[in-house]
Parts: sequence; C-alpha cells; structure tokens
Amino acid sequence: MPYTSLDPIWLCYMSALALSFALPLVLIGYIWPRNPAPGAKPLIGILAAVMLWSFGYIIEFLNNHMAGKLIAINISYIGVVTLPVMGFIFALQFTHSDRWLTSRRMLLLFVIPLITLVLLWTGKYHNLMLYDLHLTIDGPFMLVANQYGLWFWVFVTYSYALLIIGMLVLVHRLFSPPRLFQDQAIYLIIAVAVPAIANIEYLSPFLPIPQADWTPAAFAVSAICLTFAISRHGLLDVLPVARESAIELMNEGFAVVDDKGRIVDINKAMCEITGLKQSDLHGQPLPAVIVNQLNAGGDYLNISEEHIEIALDQKDGLHYYSTHVSLLQRGRGTRSHVLILYDITERKKNEEAIKQIAYYDSLTGLPNRSLFSDRAEMALAEAGRYKRKLAVMIVDIDKFKAVNDTYGHDAGDQVLQDIAARLTHAVRKVDTVSRLGGDEFLVLLPEIANEEIVDRIAHRIIREAVTPFNFNATDIHLTISIGISLYPEDSEDLNTLVKYADTAMYYVKQTGRNGYARYSEKMKNGQPVIPTD
Ligand code: GH3
Ligand code: MG
Repeated sequence: MPYTSLDPIWLCYMSALALSFALPLVLIGYIWPRNPAPGAKPLIGILAAVMLWSFGYIIEFLNNHMAGKLIAINISYIGVVTLPVMGFIFALQFTHSDRWLTSRRMLLLFVIPLITLVLLWTGKYHNLMLYDLHLTIDGPFMLVANQYGLWFWVFVTYSYALLIIGMLVLVHRLFSPPRLFQDQAIYLIIAVAVPAIANIEYLSPFLPIPQADWTPAAFAVSAICLTFAISRHGLLDVLPVARESAIELMNEGFAVVDDKGRIVDINKAMCEITGLKQSDLHGQPLPAVIVNQLNAGGDYLNISEEHIEIALDQKDGLHYYSTHVSLLQRGRGTRSHVLILYDITERKKNEEAIKQIAYYDSLTGLPNRSLFSDRAEMALAEAGRYKRKLAVMIVDIDKFKAVNDTYGHDAGDQVLQDIAARLTHAVRKVDTVSRLGGDEFLVLLPEIANEEIVDRIAHRIIREAVTPFNFNATDIHLTISIGISLYPEDSEDLNTLVKYADTAMYYVKQTGRNGYARYSEKMKNGQPVIPTD
C-alpha cells in the first residue's frame, strides 16, 4: 500500500501522474495511424518517454518497499534519459532544421543516455549516478532519497544543453516570419517549459521546496497543451515542415496579402518571380506590375475566387502566369487573399505553336484559309453593322509552274515567300493577306470607303508582283492575275464572295493574265466585261 492515499497533495500528485501517463497514450493512439509529417515520430518518442517516466513514478509511489521503488526508478529512467534526445530531434525535424541530423548523428545522441542507464542499473558497483539510496518521508510522500554522482551531472548538463538548443530552434523558427504557427509554438513552448521548471526546482539545491519530483506530474500540463495544439491548432495537420515542403519549396509563387494588399506571407518561388527579397517583404505591397494586371477587371481584393492571367517580364524573357486569387477569411472582419502564380509560359508557347500550325501557312507565315475565314466573318459582321463596304481579292501567280520547272522548287518556294511579304507590304494594316494554297492568295480588304481604294490596292499589288524576284543572283519575272468581289454589291455571303473573286480571277486568266477584274454577273456567261489593267 502507498504511504498515504488520503492527503490532497498526494492525490493531486498521483492524478497528475495518471494524466501524464494516460494523455500521452491517447495522443500516441491519435498520431500513430496518421503519422503525417517529419516531427511526428520523435513526438511519439517524446510521449512514450513521458509515459515511461510517469509509469515508473506511479509504481514507485504505489510501492512502499525499497526494492519495488528501485525497480520503478530503473523503469522511469528509460523515459528520463530518452526524453531530452527525443525533444531535440523533434525540434529539429518540426522546424525543418534537420539537415544536420544524419542517422549516424542521431545514434550518437543516444550514447550519453545509454551510458547513463547502464551506470544507473549498475549503481551498486560505483557512485557515479545515484548512490546512498534510502527511504525517507517528506510530507505525504515516501521517497527514495539519494546523492547524485558525477555522471548524473554530466547527464543533466547534456540533457539541458539539448533542451536549450531545441527550445532556441523552436523559438527562432516559429517566431520569425511568416508567423503562421505562433499558436502552435506557444503551446509547444509551454509544454516544454512547465516540466523543465519543475525539474530545475527538483534538482536545484537552492530552492527549498522538498517533496517529490514534480517533473513527470508537470507533463500533464504538457500533454494538455499538446492536445490543444493538435485538436485546435492543427499541430500535426499543418506542421511548419509541411508548410516548408508544400509552400516554401513549391514551384508556384505563393503569397498572402492582407485587406490592404500588403504582403503577409510569401514563398521563395514568389520572391524569384517578383525579384524581391523574402526578408524585407512583409508588410509591403505586391509589385505594381502584378497589381495592375490583377486589377484589370476591377479591384482584385474584392475577388472571392478567380483565375487571372498575367504576363511578367523576367530575366529569361516574358513569362505567363495563371494567378489563382482566393479570399481567405479568418474570423469576422479579417480578410486576406491567397495568390498562387502558376507558370503557364510553356503551355502558352505550345498553344501559340498549335495556333501557328492551325492558323498559319508554314511556308510563308501568312494566315491560312481558316484564319482568313474567321477574320472575314468578323469583318463582314462589322461591315453590316456600320454599313461599310468590304472587298475580297484572289491573287494567283501567272504561269508559276514554269518558275518551278525553270529554276527549281526551291526558287519557287523563295518566290512564294517573297510575294507573301510584298503582298503584305502592298495592303493596309487593317487588311489580311492569306495563302489559299499553291500560288493562290486571298486578300481581305475591310473598311472600303469607295471602290477606288480597291483599284489602288490592286495596282499596288501588281506593281509589287512585276518587280523581278531575285533567286541566286537570277532575276525571275512574274505577273499575277487578281479577281475582286465586293460586299454588299456582289454578295453578303463570304463563300459566295470568294467564289465570285475566283470567277473574276479566272476571267483575267482567260483574257490574257497580268491584270485584275472586278466580278460581274456577266462573267458567269464567260463574256469579258472588265478589261484588265
Ligand atoms: P496559271 O497562270 O494558270 O495560274 O498557271 P500556273 O502554272 O500558275 O498554274 P497553277 O496556278 O494552277 O499552278 C500552281 C503551281 O504552283 C503548281 C505547283 O507546281 C506550284 N506550287 C504549288 N504549291 C507550291 C509550293 O508550295 N512550292 C512551290 N515551289 N510550288 C508550288
Ligand atoms: Mg497560277
């Protein structure tokens, strides 16, 4: 039977010990199946050590005999010696400062605890750990009093060194910006500090509070803190480690801005994108070039969720980012926004390349028939709305086959490229020159004020075409035939306009080539009505 089971202090002490044993057990049961991130394993180690420590003390205080108490002390010391090392490993892993922590070094950390245990268990042969052990009564407690040997103080110094370094790492990492884990950090620090204070009090010869060692009982406070940190503040869901890997190390730019657009948090990738430094960013606004683009459709701070495409000029050229803006509302009143910038430059380039293939002619780089049709349909709609005229031209090189036959296919290709450039040069900016295929080009002339403009452009094109083309120092002479149809006079339908322009062009071919003709109804009957220029 224990020395006394009625004294309130004894009951309080034993209840705290029971809690220090039971709560870690529950927490291990919670963490084990999740085991979510680095830091969780040493945390399980810490909890197991606390359980052993408390368990040993429970056995000790439920036992009135020296032999039983000594076995209990031997058990509890397994927890005592492993706890500081576990705590140290946890602090490093939890804050992602564990690059130094190789498996070899981790093993070395356990050398002193192991020696301590061996010296404790072999205590009757030396005075290095605990000696002069005897039973004593202090208040409600029947205790094993003892003297501490030299190695005990080596062990204490080692343990406190680990504890202090671990604490400093925790405090430094968790209180330096971004301070996303302050709540967790405060709970962790209380969880470490309370038993540490109890232990210092117990070990200190200067503090005259005798009685039992309250260290394991103080772990009840630690366990409660941890329970809160886990259940209320997502300790194991959003470990800083998880943040490091999920946010800091992600390729996407990440930033949190407050309701005034000031940066609250920013990751490395975002710093690289913006060219800003992480250390002096907090509280500053995002660069104007980003803000302006985000605000293009209205104040981005009013957005609840949207993707906005932005372009940023960077060292290696223009980059495109799809920016996911989402509102993050923490409690009433506090609004902040999360911005994630996905680099879509590659996708954009691919899209451009696909667009190029789908809409442009590979030899001349001119729009192809699809793009011509798109633009022409739009131009027709606009011409209809504003009651404007529009012209469609078909340009075909005369006797082009002969160029291929005489100078070779390469020369033919070169001529096609040159004439594409010349046609583009001959028309206005609003016009579209496209390659229909072979040696045939389609020209769209929107915004025609009067028919003379069409004549003028046709003349200009012919002039460009008759200027000799140079291939390998040889002049190649060409002529072209042009057919023209007009909206709305000839037709209001694009296909018909193209067909009529083609009819007019064939009319020119039939009547001697090297000229242009405007479509006329009579051409259908093959009667020449418009002489070529
Ligand atoms: P016409 O005055 O009646 O137009 O006579 P043409 O010889 O120009 O005959 P047509 O327009 O029917 O023939 C076009 C020729 O253009 C046929 C082909 O040899 C040539 N051609 C078509 N596509 C290409 C090309 O991509 N490169 C080269 N080099 N030649 C091409
Ligand atoms: Mg031809």
